[in-house]
Amino acid sequence: MTRTVYVNGEYLAETEAKISIFDRGFLMADAVYEVTSVLGGKLIDFDGHAVRLKRSLDELDMAAPCSKDELLEIHRKLVELNDIDEGMVYLQVTRGSDGDRDFVFPSDDTKPTLVLFTQDKPGLANSPAAQKGIRVISIDDIRWGRRDIKTTQLLYPSLGKMMAKKAGADDAWMTEDGYVTEGTSNNAYFVKDGKIVTRPLSNDILHGITRKAVLRMAAEAQMIVEERLFTIEEAKAADEAFVTSASTFVMPVVEIDGETLGEGTPGPIARRLREIYLEESLKAAV
Ligand code: PMP
Repeated sequence: MTRTVYVNGEYLAETEAKISIFDRGFLMADAVYEVTSVLGGKLIDFDGHAVRLKRSLDELDMAAPCSKDELLEIHRKLVELNDIDEGMVYLQVTRGSDGDRDFVFPSDDTKPTLVLFTQDKPGLANSPAAQKGIRVISIDDIRWGRRDIKTTQLLYPSLGKMMAKKAGADDAWMTEDGYVTEGTSNNAYFVKDGKIVTRPLSNDILHGITRKAVLRMAAEAQMIVEERLFTIEEAKAADEAFVTSASTFVMPVVEIDGETLGEGTPGPIARRLREIYLEESLKAAV
């Protein structure tokens, strides 16, 4: 089916949508993005994504393309036009283009580019991967120093995913100075003796929208959470592990660098957090 997508104020067939070859998103990855999940035709944590988008734009001194209310309207309209029950809405804002290539930013009156499209993913909430758990390998984190900004510089995470695939695994966790930063497209956690451990927020990792919600829900469920640096060795010796992201929610990890965790099946804390997250998020979806 041909999707209807959104480009700079227009709803168009995906085959008709165009942006300039001089767009700085295309030439320089001078762009930020968000991915919001859709369950039951409704947006999960739209507010969290809108707030983080604003922060990413501010950190890069990039103009906001429109108001939060307008963004919500565009998201909802695309979900409706494309008849999405379960899936995602991808949003990207770039610094636009003034018709040439230059490292210097274009003039202030250059309009940002705003693109949104949907991805239809039936069965997103009931994914087979979540039943089985995923296997990860560890790789060096060689990304830039502002990973808290959600830019479209995704080449290294993409290479990391391919390294995992080649190694027969599903994903990679990145390490820097001996400590795990995060997964290629998710935040990383392990559980030992009932305690959930994850890296604290800083410029070294993306401030996951799902991370924030899951840590709040874990605290509400009287689970113990410790935000501190941890090594891959600690994670390998854990009882269980998991990752979080807007499109995979809480995803159990059952193997790290070939070492099986616990029974090699999704652990009870990861399973419970996934249940709570899906239930609570659905209640609050808009
Ligand atoms: N870290 C990285 C590097 C990511 O790409 C993502 C997914 N965008 C996350 C963490 C998880 O963030 P969120 O829960 O907001 O999807």
